[in-house]
Amino acid sequence: MIIVVSPNATPEDLDIIVRQVEESGRQAHLSVGTERSIIGVIGPDMPELQDMFESLPHVESVHRVTKPYKLVSREFRATPTVIDVGYGVSIGGTELAIMAGPCSIENEDHMMDSARGVRAAGANILRGGAYKPRTSPYAFRGLGVEGLEYLANAGRAMGMPVITELMSVRDIDEVARYADIIQIGARNMQNFMLLDEVGKVRKPVMVKRALSGQIEEWLLAAEYIMAQGNPNVILCERGIRTFETAYRNTFDINAIPLVKELSHLPVIADPSHGTGKQGLVIPVAMGAIAAGADGLMIEVHNNPERALSDGAQSLTYERFAGMMRSVAGVAAAVERTVPGVGASAAAR
Ligand code: PEP
Ligand code: MN
Repeated sequence: MIIVVSPNATPEDLDIIVRQVEESGRQAHLSVGTERSIIGVIGPDMPELQDMFESLPHVESVHRVTKPYKLVSREFRATPTVIDVGYGVSIGGTELAIMAGPCSIENEDHMMDSARGVRAAGANILRGGAYKPRTSPYAFRGLGVEGLEYLANAGRAMGMPVITELMSVRDIDEVARYADIIQIGARNMQNFMLLDEVGKVRKPVMVKRALSGQIEEWLLAAEYIMAQGNPNVILCERGIRTFETAYRNTFDINAIPLVKELSHLPVIADPSHGTGKQGLVIPVAMGAIAAGADGLMIEVHNNPERALSDGAQSLTYERFAGMMRSVAGVAAAVERTVPGVGASAAAR
């Protein structure tokens, strides 16, 4: 259930309503807005309760949220969520978020060089994995904390927020210390304990869609994080596994407009993992922006053939710069801008 409270309710008035909700044995999630405040009621619905909440002072209306996910739903919040990730970058606004960098953090110099390369092309968020979910236990599995330090230093040097994957609750303090955005990888989308824990951290979290994650399951994964009190959740479509073997995954473009309709959370597209082939990354990136994505996650490597992971889907700096130009044209058509290129330049 969601309770819509009039904008002239004082903090004390809101507190009275929250207490009533809690006394009914439900959890209350308060979201104070300029137009109205919303209290999300988490717990079983009861018609008598709806009537009782409706009779409280300053309550404008009470709605039953029909979806299994509540806090992430458009019914809970009609306007898109815009998330500030530091260094003046936000995700979900007019300017697209372009996250770029190598799949894995390989060494200190390579990370710094990658940061410089993607920054020069206009990326506004730096990516790199220090804890890598690899199919084989014998593959390169990341540098761990040492890698986190290289990533954070490179981000700081280039004035960019950084995103990196957290695979285990074991590493949450270290990852939260170095990352500006914590990534939950596709393989952990339903690691519910991990979702609970990142819900308690005060850092934005990006949840990638699982290899066989349904839209509702993905939104419920985001709900886990929000239900623990972290409102700064970003969704990332990275392709799903289908019968098709001609490419690594099937990038599900339908998911972008659907999720934008169902949820107020920003959605990032990852055509690198979504295709697995560098030749497909640019057209799929353009398609994702046209479909309404709030940004992109792109794997970039100076020498893809020598990358320690995911070289086949990595763009060189030059190709990445070319992608930024192509995406700028599409962005202008959907009234978005790309970082580093103003709206007027994008329209040229
Ligand atoms: C990654 O971003 O490098 C990654 C492992 O992604 P995913 O979880 O989508 O496979
Ligand atoms: Mn990768």
